[in-house]
Amino acid sequence: MLTGSCLCRTIRYEVSVPITELRACHCRDCQKSSGATAGSGRTLHRFFCGDCGSPLFSRRELTPENMALRIGTLDDSSGLKITAHIWTRSARPWA
Ligand SMILES: [Zn+2]
Ligand SMILES: [Zn+2]
Repeated sequence: MLTGSCLCRTIRYEVSVPITELRACHCRDCQKSSGATAGSGRTLHRFFCGDCGSPLFSRRELTPENMALRIGTLDDSSGLKITAHIWTRSARPWA
């Protein structure tokens, strides 16, 4: 069972399903983490801690059954490896 939290630890969670993909997204919205619309033009809902502002997960409006967890919020993600880089055309030159 994987566990995680936001920065201030007001929100703690457990992951009870397998993490099937670990994608590094290079889209501008993820870089800025401010948009409500994904680079694809589809609506994306981002969920934050209301106290510390940590982004925790996101969900596409069309496929709410899939949740994209911000992997950096896991307490221990050492067993996971990136499976894909997406939106690489908008990646910063240093990435
Ligand atoms: Zn918090
Ligand atoms: Zn993105």
